[in-house]
Amino acid sequence: MIFSGNVTTEPNPADEIDYRNLLEEERLLLQQKLTAGGGGVATGGQGTPDASKIASWRGEAKSPTVQAQEALGEVEGALRRLDDGTYGRCEGCGELVAPERLEALPATRNCVKCA
Ligand SMILES: [Zn+2]
Repeated sequence: MIFSGNVTTEPNPADEIDYRNLLEEERLLLQQKLTAGGGGVATGGQGTPDASKIASWRGEAKSPTVQAQEALGEVEGALRRLDDGTYGRCEGCGELVAPERLEALPATRNCVKCA
């Protein structure tokens, strides 16, 4: 091994959170949830499909599958914004979203004020 003098390798500055990593982990979890859930469509006619349909028409309790699909869409949108360089900006007011909020909700599109 050759020592080249000053070794200043800092892969991750302390104030920079790896949002991409957070988002990709979340995406994986959601994809697993959707795969495991089997979609809830045409699974042998058990249960009451009409009741869940009515609930979704009313905008009440969404099925876990629908929730996971929506969340997955949000996560993928956030990953696209990371690529665009617009990630972390509020879509409502254009201000930067607080890092602690992004850490808790990496796929969020709005700051606390606009949420
Ligand atoms: Zn805002």
